[in-house]
Amino acid sequence: MATLVVATLALPVSAQDVDPRVETVLAQVSAERLKATVDALAAFETRHTLSSQTDPRRGIGAAAQWIHDQWRTASPRLQVAFDDYEIPAQGDRIVRDVRLRNVVAVLPGRTARRIVVSGHYDTVARPVPPPATAASLPSASGGAAPRPASASGGFDWSAGDIPAPGANDDGSGTALTMEAARVLAQSGLEFDATLVFIAFAGEEQGLVGAHLHAQRARAEKVVIDAVFNNDIVGNSRGGNGIVDAETVRVFSEGPEDSLSRQLARYIQRTAARYVPSHRVRLIARHDRFGRGGDHTAFNQRGYAGVRFSEANEHFGRQHLVADTPDGVDAVYLSRNTKVNVASVASLALAPAAPAVTTERGVPLLDRSPSGYDARLRWRAADGAVGYRIFWREAWTPDWQFDRHVGNVTEIVLPDVSVDDYVFGVAAIGPGGHESLVSAYVNPPRTAVDIKVK
Ligand SMILES: [Zn+2]
Repeated sequence: MATLVVATLALPVSAQDVDPRVETVLAQVSAERLKATVDALAAFETRHTLSSQTDPRRGIGAAAQWIHDQWRTASPRLQVAFDDYEIPAQGDRIVRDVRLRNVVAVLPGRTARRIVVSGHYDTVARPVPPPATAASLPSASGGAAPRPASASGGFDWSAGDIPAPGANDDGSGTALTMEAARVLAQSGLEFDATLVFIAFAGEEQGLVGAHLHAQRARAEKVVIDAVFNNDIVGNSRGGNGIVDAETVRVFSEGPEDSLSRQLARYIQRTAARYVPSHRVRLIARHDRFGRGGDHTAFNQRGYAGVRFSEANEHFGRQHLVADTPDGVDAVYLSRNTKVNVASVASLALAPAAPAVTTERGVPLLDRSPSGYDARLRWRAADGAVGYRIFWREAWTPDWQFDRHVGNVTEIVLPDVSVDDYVFGVAAIGPGGHESLVSAYVNPPRTAVDIKVK
């Protein structure tokens, strides 16, 4: 009888904010394994995109094969492959023809829509450690600034063979991506979305591997709901001495209700539930000031994507031979991994987000029935068993109010002004998992010039 009472009182999964199955996956994330992965990646001495592809122990070729083999042994559910491109010399960083090799592991879901988790496994280093000055910091187009080799410590883009251990940039993000793939594939959970884990090459040459992958995805009309890009996520001690092992930054492009911003809000909301000790600090910028990352290649092609980076960077190690594993805090890296895994799992278990516009793109938001109400309508999402609506004052960056509205496709909020609030809707699956929020976006106005005599 007691058992029956307990069973009656226990909330069904669909009524809980935390899915115990996801908590079980999070418990599998291993700081020790992350550390071992970072150590192994750094031990290839360099993973520069123009380093050796044939040496069995040193260079990017050996590193790519090792990542591939790790995924192959992690789970038979992972479909592991090289994503290869033969590219000619171009720009000032690809100084010769090269085969560029991303490593990809796919965990198929019930649907073809994709969620990507990534880090870049390539590295770069300056020949001579310069003093950390603003002028030596990397630039927008990729990791590293295109400066001529010089005694002052600029990059030499033909020096593909000098030591560049890249433990934190971006061994940390690569290790996170590999660990996320392992725990999610080994979980036995069946996801609605297809999960795609990618170790990108060519990031330091200008996001080359990510651009190649994203441009092909766009050309083939591949649906990618979200890109979780992890780049420099393992160091908890900033170069200025500030120590913070409980915060991770998530950068997302605007405008304020872009798909990427919805993804960022989703990550913060989900992480707060599953990893409550860790703070997700949302930054309303596509990346750090004047810089970029592999998610940028997806953003520029209309895909939602964010960048995770540690709370305080150590510029005295980046792009130097000093970027060694002792600068990576494996426990901090494991927390950042859990933030990723919790958000990816929740999103992948949820249905796709509902459409809140007509087929022609007109927002399904009006003032009916009184003329002063907010009436929200949406198109049903496949697999949804209910919906949650969100709203906030139009001046506010994050959702302030939400309501579970059941399995309907229309709701009226009496006397709530559609002018003064922003609204959105998420779909809820049978397990209680919520999709990204689809926001009702005020259509942009374009200027029409008035004729004059
Ligand atoms: Zn990087």
